[in-house]
Amino acid sequence: MIIFKKAADLQHWLQLQQSPIAFVPTMGALHSGHLHLVSEAQKTASIVVCSIFVNPTQFNDQGDFAKYPKTIENDIFLLEKQGCSILFLPSNEEIYENNLENLPKTYELGALENLWEGAYRPGHFQGVCMVVHRLLLLVKPHFLLLGIKDYQQCKVIEWLNTTYNLGATVLKIPTQREASGLALSSRNLRLSDEGKQKAANLYKELCLIRENLAAAPIQNLLFIAKNNLLAAGFEKIDYLALADAGNLTEVAIWQAEKPCVLLAAVFLEGVRLIDNLELVL
Ligand code: AMP
Repeated sequence: MIIFKKAADLQHWLQLQQSPIAFVPTMGALHSGHLHLVSEAQKTASIVVCSIFVNPTQFNDQGDFAKYPKTIENDIFLLEKQGCSILFLPSNEEIYENNLENLPKTYELGALENLWEGAYRPGHFQGVCMVVHRLLLLVKPHFLLLGIKDYQQCKVIEWLNTTYNLGATVLKIPTQREASGLALSSRNLRLSDEGKQKAANLYKELCLIRENLAAAPIQNLLFIAKNNLLAAGFEKIDYLALADAGNLTEVAIWQAEKPCVLLAAVFLEGVRLIDNLELVL
């Protein structure tokens, strides 16, 4: 695996290649979910570029940014073992200084900006767009691999890719989970062993809602699930809701023929966890 720290060096190397490129952007603290994305990328293209950059502009809470886990040596080891071709490991300056001239001041995300994650993390998706736009202009991948775990982020990046003609085919990869059902996440590193066990209740509750959708009104199911989570020791629920799978607006009455998704953001042991469950026919 070749590691590039300078954008210009990466760009120069990539320009010499004739083969398709698949790109997996990450913020590091890699786990099997990330490696699954790399493995899927390897099936689609002969050159796989993974980036690790903990993007400050997408953190509305600077405490959260400071606490974001960093395990770079292990990350490099895992990517080498996985056979990833390229790791891009830029500094903040490489991403942001003198490199913003091609980027818009604001991304007009419409409703996506303020729904769900946007409501609880103001400015988050502007930061996501900035960094992903910069990375896509640099890497110019044929394929971009994203995890469905970050459901709204997938929508935002698909919008970015289309709106700015960035030319990547976006591949959305299902969420990888622990045997308990807990979605793999870098933030899980901040949970105690007991916390990890408790955290699995989130996916259990999402599955329970799905199982009972035809039997009870969605509002009742959401109410019960929220109570169960609080009783299980979750400190706070930012949201647990049913949304339209296309535009993510809230759905008050479930209809089997309309593709929907359950979206959740909760706190446990001071760690903010997100998960979702698509309700496909
Ligand atoms: P992150 O480093 O958390 O920003 O994630 C980098 C990429 O990995 C994003 O596209 C995430 O959606 C994806 N990802 C994170 N966790 C998982 C998971 N458990 N399963 C599959 N993809 C994931």
